[in-house]
Amino acid sequence: MAMGEIGATPAGGCNRQALTDEDKVGRDLFVRWCKDAGCEIRIDAIGNIFARRKGKDDSLPAVITGSHLDTQPTGGKFDGIYGVLAGLEVIETLNDHNVQTQHPIERVVWTNEEGCRFDTAMMGSAVWAGVMPIEDAYALTDRDGISVAQELARIGYKGELATRNGAIKAAFETHIEQGPVLEAEQKTVGIVNGVQHMSRHRIIIEGKETHAGPSPMATRQDPMMALANFLPRLYAMAEKYGPDSRLTFGYVHALPGSSNTVPGQLELTVDIRHPQKAAYDAMISGYQACVQQACDESGTPVSMECFWEAPGVEFATECVNAVRGAVATTGYDSMEIVSGAGHDACNVASVVPTSMIFIPCKDGLSHNEAESAEPEHVEAGCNVLLHAILDRASSD
Ligand SMILES: [Zn+2]
Repeated sequence: MAMGEIGATPAGGCNRQALTDEDKVGRDLFVRWCKDAGCEIRIDAIGNIFARRKGKDDSLPAVITGSHLDTQPTGGKFDGIYGVLAGLEVIETLNDHNVQTQHPIERVVWTNEEGCRFDTAMMGSAVWAGVMPIEDAYALTDRDGISVAQELARIGYKGELATRNGAIKAAFETHIEQGPVLEAEQKTVGIVNGVQHMSRHRIIIEGKETHAGPSPMATRQDPMMALANFLPRLYAMAEKYGPDSRLTFGYVHALPGSSNTVPGQLELTVDIRHPQKAAYDAMISGYQACVQQACDESGTPVSMECFWEAPGVEFATECVNAVRGAVATTGYDSMEIVSGAGHDACNVASVVPTSMIFIPCKDGLSHNEAESAEPEHVEAGCNVLLHAILDRASSD
């Protein structure tokens, strides 16, 4: 709640966008809390913060946990922040009980996860994982033309440390679910075993502009007829691939956009997601075949292109098992779940064994000022994180 006061909005949310003055104040507060907990702070060249608690054998690879402190312009108090502070709570608990782990433990704050002010989501973790060149990240600008490099320097978080620093044994990210499933199933903890495959496609269908009155229906070359043909077939296809499939037509635009002219062109997008690679691939080829066939039938030429794709992630068995074990130890009601959203953990997982822990959020709301979570769920996620970290930080 103290962190939530930084960039607080009148409607109870947060506006603490990446590398703003508010982000600096939030970072400073986190650093102070970590120093109070006896941790050593290091900042890397893209502004990721690492707070280290020494291990019995400090030369061993660290177990890391973290998330992000930045928010959407009308964001909530929990998205990202919960994962950062859950790690701090774990450290304070280990301190309180005088437990020293074999491996060092580091909490990480990843820079610019939200990608709203600077238009690349999960930027800091992408640079750290080597997925994005640091020069590209530095050169990103906001709407006023101010760059990431300028703002990192201005707020004092352009560190000296190389972005890949030291060996890592395992990584965990605790997060609110940002969806309604745990709440609906009345589960306290989600054991996240992966992140779904997702891609976005643009469909452009060519028609022939004609007058809405004189042209008989049968003579038209109308892209809307093709749309009316394939839309129900695609929804039926999504249903065929089970409750984990996602199909979203979020943008439809007809040209010239006149109510008494048959459209000369129709542009639309479709977002396709599924956690299983085989089903995801089948949905992609099914969508292409279905749209092509409908457009052939209505005599409207069509082009389709994929303009964005994020491959799914299968989290490391040893980390998912550590979370399963932690849930068994703590006794919380849990279920296995796939993340519908991208997270820093996706980038981290490309170089280090990683997994995630979810807790429910009120009404499944996120990226929303009304975002909320119950104290007992917040506590449960911390306890599961504690035992998962103990598992990985104790063994050899
Ligand atoms: Zn987040």
